[in-house]
Amino acid sequence: MTEPLIFERSAPGRVAASLPAPEVPIRPIEQLVPSKYIRRDLPLPEVSELEVIRHFTRLSQKNVCIDTTFYPLGSCTMKYNPKVNEDASRLPGFAQIHPYQPESTVQGALKLMYELQEYLAEIAGMDAVTLQPAAGAHGELTGMLMVRAYHDERGDAERKRVLIPDSAHGTNPATATMVGYRVQSIPADERGNLDLSALRAALGPDVAALMITIPSTFGLFDEHILDVVGAIHEVGGLVYGDGANMNAILGQARFGDLGVDVMHFNLHKTFTTPHGGGGPPAGPVAVKSHLAPYLPVPVVAHRKRSDGADEYYLDVDRPLSIGKIKAFYGNFGMMVRAYTYIRSIGAEGLQQVGENAVLNANYLMARLRGAYDLYADRRCKHEFVLSGRRQRRANGVRTLDIAKRLIDYGFHPPTIYFPIVVEEAIMIEPTETESVETLDQFADAMLAIAREAEENPELVKHAPHTTEIGRLDEVAAVRRPNLRWKPA
Ligand SMILES: *Cc1c(COP(=O)(O)O)cnc(C)c1O
Repeated sequence: MTEPLIFERSAPGRVAASLPAPEVPIRPIEQLVPSKYIRRDLPLPEVSELEVIRHFTRLSQKNVCIDTTFYPLGSCTMKYNPKVNEDASRLPGFAQIHPYQPESTVQGALKLMYELQEYLAEIAGMDAVTLQPAAGAHGELTGMLMVRAYHDERGDAERKRVLIPDSAHGTNPATATMVGYRVQSIPADERGNLDLSALRAALGPDVAALMITIPSTFGLFDEHILDVVGAIHEVGGLVYGDGANMNAILGQARFGDLGVDVMHFNLHKTFTTPHGGGGPPAGPVAVKSHLAPYLPVPVVAHRKRSDGADEYYLDVDRPLSIGKIKAFYGNFGMMVRAYTYIRSIGAEGLQQVGENAVLNANYLMARLRGAYDLYADRRCKHEFVLSGRRQRRANGVRTLDIAKRLIDYGFHPPTIYFPIVVEEAIMIEPTETESVETLDQFADAMLAIAREAEENPELVKHAPHTTEIGRLDEVAAVRRPNLRWKPA
């Protein structure tokens, strides 16, 4: 049943809020706004507060989210975000400060930022951190601008190529291209590691950097990572580590110890900020000391005042800095959430996150490996990649059909058709926050769908059957979105 929209509920004279009498004289609108901008016929809905509440609550319930549903979207780390993070981010001392306030009045906020920089550096084994980038992709851009600045500063301007594994997230080649580099794709070997001989063949004095995701986008830890990093350093290139999905190695391995020169975090994946609904993310970047002079300004710094007290300040006196990359200081609310998360679970908690992320992914993989083909049959990290090619060949059931059928079983589908180098890819990331009961329910659904694909393929091919709307024309939905309600 289609609910009437809020415009259709409108009745003249209904209001949702009553405003207090103004304390200043009211001037007619014509005196304030040029007449050409005044629309007398603007059909705004007139509804009561109750109707507004019902409208938006109903809309929110149509949204699939981690608070209602298991959400195994590979490479996105849709894990549970503890609500204490939300409480902390709403404390008035954090939520109601203004970026133009004098530093002396926001010492607590600056201290939090400074300490978060230190924690992230420690967690990743790096030397210095900027919190400013507004997302993972923005962190990549920041990091690669520093790579370019480093080579330029050394007079090493002939470096034109960036090497990137063919499993990489699309933002990696997009970033390298935006920074002015030519991208060369490196394939994987049969175990899912970067193909070392292909890498060696691609090396040369014009290589600026390798951008490598750890663990890889196949959910695998590269067994030759030290050789890979060493080979790049040997030709004078830098190693960019994509740490968007580092929950699996928290407390287990550190980017810095592996030799990575510069890397980014996704606070909204690894360090629990709600994401996926367009909420602001954060992609801090960490560097080794040889790249620290290039960090964007300002950097949050600490000094002792003459009376011995701690003082936190925004350091803008950094002559080699790549400059500003974000208005003000980044998405501060995300920093409060990440800080709260790190402080509330502590070092041992972070280590346990790594262990549980790996345990959960391997448990699911073990339950599903008989029914679906596996991209790489070895221990995975936070996620694993299945292939639906067996189902497609046998009965014409495609990965898209399997994903749609999962909706009937009450699950958000996993990532599909990515990494693009895997035929009919199904990429599953259970995350560390799910219970074994939930994992079992999901595995049971996937196994049931594999049986349906054999016994009743039409049922799967026409899924979902339980939703208000079945299959959308997904191309039209993107190319010609219908976002505006018009009166009938
Ligand atoms: C999510 C992700 C990114 C991009 O992060 P955004 O915050 O979406 O810009 C980059 N690399 C990898 C491996 C990712 O999973």
